[in-house]
Amino acid sequence: MKPNVKDLSREELEIWLSERGESRYRVDQIRRWLFQKGAASFAEMTNLSAKLRRELEGGFAISRLRVARSDRSADGTVKLLFSLDDGYEIESVLIPETKRLTLCISTQAGCGLGCAFCATALLGLKRNLTAAEIVDQILKASRAVPAEQRITHIVLMGMGEPLANYAQTVRAIAVMTDGDSGLGFSSRRVTLSTVGLVPQIKKLIDETQVNLAISLHATTDEVRSRLMPVNRKYPLEELTAACEFYQQKRGRMITFEYILIAGVNDGLDQVAPLAKLARTLNAKVNLIPYNKVEDLPWERPSEEVQEAFLAALEKQKVTATLRREKGHDIDAACGQLRLKTERELANANC
Ligand code: SAH
Repeated sequence: MKPNVKDLSREELEIWLSERGESRYRVDQIRRWLFQKGAASFAEMTNLSAKLRRELEGGFAISRLRVARSDRSADGTVKLLFSLDDGYEIESVLIPETKRLTLCISTQAGCGLGCAFCATALLGLKRNLTAAEIVDQILKASRAVPAEQRITHIVLMGMGEPLANYAQTVRAIAVMTDGDSGLGFSSRRVTLSTVGLVPQIKKLIDETQVNLAISLHATTDEVRSRLMPVNRKYPLEELTAACEFYQQKRGRMITFEYILIAGVNDGLDQVAPLAKLARTLNAKVNLIPYNKVEDLPWERPSEEVQEAFLAALEKQKVTATLRREKGHDIDAACGQLRLKTERELANANC
């Protein structure tokens, strides 16, 4: 198998070219073909010499993702299920809002973090995605967008834990945020969501400029460890210290994601500690009503409970939003489309 040219960093491609006596500016030409024009072959790269095209052809492959299934929800959310070369499946979700079009992408096939409520956790970790597989989700999803629209924001919140696949994720971020010959997203429009791997959070803050979202989901170590085993390794005190570091270094608002799960973390007694954390760390809170996962015992609270929780947070002067039913009818939460497809296949009579 030839290496995938999209997995090369700009520097690596530069070295490869200079070893063949080619100028450095070829790097941008090649990358524009790959990331901006979606070239599927080196033969298309007509501003390169025939000799260079042949050498590229001999040395590298160009990857493409295959769309296995696509579902459009009543509210416009589009869920894409991709098949990888080795048969694993990953998901991306396009989420239209009034002034934005956000694409949520995956960073791993499966996930090894074992969050108790999550459909992807049921799979376990299959493997890390390559940088190319992460970027290809954006290239492929762009083609599913009507001509007059563009993807405006990227969130690394699909399947997997981006910081458990640190090197490839950061490589992919470098392509996303490269304005010259990458995808040209401003770092402010790229958000990485993590369970809270503290050392990698600090590294990420040092090495990139992207926004940070933390899957908080609880305000005590007791409840958080029950929901998220990672909390035993990096308890809230260490996690909040990493959030402080983000504050000092970046000075931007951090996002806390907080799934509302009935009877677990949705009591109004949770509002004051959550508000305190959010105010201290300059965080906004995204409340996400839990999406029911078959086979797991957790339930979504009623709309009244959700709205009351939001109102109480806002009363405490916290910037908060409540996700209202985006893509619920197509199972647009982490890992759920894949799970559904597997079940449908298992139940099919043919
Ligand atoms: N591993 C990263 C990113 C992937 S999960 C992280 O945990 O942040 C993206 C978000 O979806 C996380 O906040 C996760 O806790 C949440 N999530 C997972 N399963 C869910 C479900 N069934 N309903 C609602 N949110 C869910």
